[in-house]
Amino acid sequence: MSHSSQRFGTRAIHAGQQPDPTTGAIMTPIFQTSTYVQDAVGSPREGYDYARVKNPTREALQGNLASLENAKHGAAFSAGLAALEALFKAVLSEGDHMICGADVYGGLDRMLRYVWSKFGVEFDFVDTTDLEAIRGAVRDETRLIHVETPSNPTITITDIAACAAVAHEAGALLSVDNTFATPFLQRPLDLGADVVMHSTTKFLNGHSDMIGGALLTNSDELAEGFHFQQKTTGGVPGPFDCWLVLRGTKTLHLRMPAHCANAARVAALLDGHAEVESVRYPGLASHPQHELAKTQMDGFGSMVSFDLGTQERANRFAAVTEVFQLAESLGGVESLVSIPTSMTHASVPEDKKMELGITPGLVRLSVGVEDAEDLVEDLSKALTEL
Ligand SMILES: *Cc1c(COP(=O)(O)O)cnc(C)c1O
Repeated sequence: MSHSSQRFGTRAIHAGQQPDPTTGAIMTPIFQTSTYVQDAVGSPREGYDYARVKNPTREALQGNLASLENAKHGAAFSAGLAALEALFKAVLSEGDHMICGADVYGGLDRMLRYVWSKFGVEFDFVDTTDLEAIRGAVRDETRLIHVETPSNPTITITDIAACAAVAHEAGALLSVDNTFATPFLQRPLDLGADVVMHSTTKFLNGHSDMIGGALLTNSDELAEGFHFQQKTTGGVPGPFDCWLVLRGTKTLHLRMPAHCANAARVAALLDGHAEVESVRYPGLASHPQHELAKTQMDGFGSMVSFDLGTQERANRFAAVTEVFQLAESLGGVESLVSIPTSMTHASVPEDKKMELGITPGLVRLSVGVEDAEDLVEDLSKALTEL
């Protein structure tokens, strides 16, 4: 059954999946198996020979995510970082150069500096809101530009179409980490990106109960490279985790509007509050890329960052909220608060943190889908206890 002409919510529920041919089970089974019986030597049924290479639950998830990102192909991995690693292994070789957004997930910064630097891949961290800076960093060896928008934790917006043009002018590929926006709010491939990457751990799963990642593309050649990495380096997700993400994406189109509405309420409370120095939310007119966010995204997401001035005040705030629980991660139905400088971005060098605006007093909220009044009351009360 082709789902390509259907609307987002219908595809979220159905794409990549069909009732089980043996039993009619409406939900894709969790194919908890490592291997498959073959009828004769060298002739596996439907190409299923070993589960690192192919697993029906994983294939359903890959088809579902590809459909949501308007992609032809999907490849699922055991973590967002495993997806990034597979991307780099597929497209980079010793001597190649990559441009990475300066303001990216802290774990990616660590991976490039401590792992990829050992293998002769060169990289520059560049402020991707500055197109001239990206152009200036391009070398003959540049193979990949990787950006994250909205970024983490300063919620900066990068112009995807403009970056795609710069990348293609340079003969390089553009990959976009779409974890914060999800395909419900932003579809980078439609804007010219070559690869979309996700930490499915976040909004796509949406329930904070697994770790996973994905790569989506329209290129047959790139997809072949990603599937080769699954088979050859093995960073694949287990079938139960795939099933959990499939369950999550069925409500993505219901959860995201609720996340966005709650985040807008929270941002409005914080904006101009006497205890708050500044707020970063793309839906606020004061956000430096508010206009770009309006054209590039279909909503402003659920991530809100704000500055309380000092680490003591930020730590105190995070300790006294009750509905907002203190934890790493984001994108689940529950609201979370974190202090990037000592949590998600602890491994980023101090001078780089300050350059990026990861200040000691920065607080990051992942606004969940609880009742907005409870969220606003919780934050208001915490702001009186600093
Ligand atoms: C969490 C996250 C990652 C890493 O994904 P894991 O699933 O934790 O490996 C990458 N990018 C962004 C934006 C993230 O939030």
